[in-house]
This record gives sequence, structure tokens and C-alpha cells, in this order.
Amino acid sequence: MSRTDTGKLTDLGDGCYAFTQAPGCWGFANSGIIVGDGGGALVVDTQNDMPMARALRDAIDGLPSSPSVDSVVNTHGDGDHWNGNVLFRDAEIISSEATLKDIRGHWLDPSRIDAYAAGDTAFAEFMRWRQGIFDYDGWTPVHPTRTYEGELRLDVGATVELQQLGPAHTSGDTVAWVPHAGVLYSGDLLFTASTPIMWAGPLSRCIEACDRITALEPRVVVPGHGPIIDASGILTVRQYLAFVLEYATESYHAGKSPLEAYQQIDLSRYAHWPHASRTYQNIRLVYRELDPQRHEADVRTTLDVVYGDDRGDWREIAR
Ligand SMILES: [Zn+2]
Repeated sequence: MSRTDTGKLTDLGDGCYAFTQAPGCWGFANSGIIVGDGGGALVVDTQNDMPMARALRDAIDGLPSSPSVDSVVNTHGDGDHWNGNVLFRDAEIISSEATLKDIRGHWLDPSRIDAYAAGDTAFAEFMRWRQGIFDYDGWTPVHPTRTYEGELRLDVGATVELQQLGPAHTSGDTVAWVPHAGVLYSGDLLFTASTPIMWAGPLSRCIEACDRITALEPRVVVPGHGPIIDASGILTVRQYLAFVLEYATESYHAGKSPLEAYQQIDLSRYAHWPHASRTYQNIRLVYRELDPQRHEADVRTTLDVVYGDDRGDWREIAR
């Protein structure tokens, strides 16, 4: 598939919209738009690169009320959710305190991709793919201007409730819940139609996050990556995470290394999802939780395995 096919606006009703990037592959993240009574709008996540962020802006400008974007929420610190802040710099940009820390210290912002792209590792090869597919011309880091911890209720002409459910996918994940519309924007606590990947963990908290989202009884859920779902789709993610948690715990107690556990896993009903190798990172998280001394995070080595085994899935996508 090609980049030019991506970026789709969906009207979810009650002033809520999703701006989704099929197929939700690495770097293809979803955004949300909530239009309040009064002509203002809140944007949830601002896309990965400049063309994607511009497409999001154009989609908002093309809405019947052409709302002004007064507020932005960054659900977490991964660049595909906040790189586009540069095109929303006049808005108040909100994140959890932990997410602001992640953004400030992010090891993989666009200015570093060229440096990482040298070498013959799978990681470097993946960075060269990124160079070819994403366009950061004109990019500059624009960070959140307001932070919160726990919960924050916003009035943007509609009530939007932010809840910090991280650490889970990252250290400070936020979900944005629009009660009157029953719409929930989950960030990367949920991936749909592809294998989820969790960076911070522990995995048990990722499962707990699924339960807390489910308890809100949303009518519509916009995940961080992949197609829009209803509440039943949350269960699929929860089941996968619980499956990995149980399997990795057993493997740990059986004396297997994380790599052995990953190589021997039978993903059965999750095997058809793209990016199956992300399970390696999820297994590593469980090991780290069980034995923090021996299994510290070494994300670059992990990514060599994850990206290397995933070549078939990301190479298919070209600009
Ligand atoms: Zn993401």
C-alpha cells in the first residue's frame, strides 16, 4: 500500500470525529477531534509527520463549523502522537506530567533518525525505511504547555475527561473520554487489527487499563492504531495481553530466556495479526517485572529482534 491512501475522517456523532491512518502500522497513528458548542475544538494526538499533521489540519478546517483548535491532548510520549504539535502550536497542549517527561527525553525524535539509520542492524534498516516514508521537513519539537496527574476535566464547549492510566504502554498514558457522546480515545493502550506493543508496562497494568476503559461503557473507541471499534474490541486486546502475561510467566519459571520464549510461542488466534514480533517486547516486559535486576530494558537490542522479524510487514508500505 502507499502513504497517499491514508488519513481518513470519520464522523462519530455528537461532535466527535476520528482521523485514522490505515493500516495502523509503525508510525501510522490515529487522532481524535472533539468539536464543542461555541466553535472550539480539542484534538487528541497530532500525527507523526508533517504531511499527516497537515492532512489532519485540513480535515478540521473542512468541518462544517470550521472550528478553531483551542486545545490539544497528547495521549503519550511516542512521536507518532505528538510530532504534529508543530502545526497546533497556538493551542494549549495538554499531557500528563509523566508524558511531558517522556517527550522531553525522547530518544527517537525525528532529528535523530539519520544518525540511527547508519549500520547493518535491523534497527538501522528500519530507520532507513522511516527516512523514506515519513517527511519531517519543517519539523521542530513543540512540547505540552500544561500537565496534569490522575484526572483532568476539560470544558471545550463539551466536557472531555482525561484519565491517566499509565504507566502501561508508556509511563504516562492518557485516555480522553467524552461522556455525552460515549466516545473514548484510548491512545496506544489499544491497538486493533495488529499486535499491540507495550513499552513501559507492567503488562498487568496494561490489562487493568483495558478494564478501566471497559468500565466507562464507551459506545465507540478510537484506538491509538488500527480501526475504530466498539467496547467488545477492547476484550480482544485484553485477552491477548493476558495470554502473553500467562505464557511469559510460565516460560520464566521454566527457565527459558525471553528470546526462547518468543521463538517457541504459539500465537494461535493472534497469529494472523501483523507485527507478530512485537510479542517479543511484551514478553520482555513480563520478565522485567518478574526479575528487574536481570532483565533491564535494552530497547535497541529488543528492536533488532522486533523490527528484524517484522520486515515483511513494514516493507510492504511505501510512500
Ligand atoms: Zn503509537
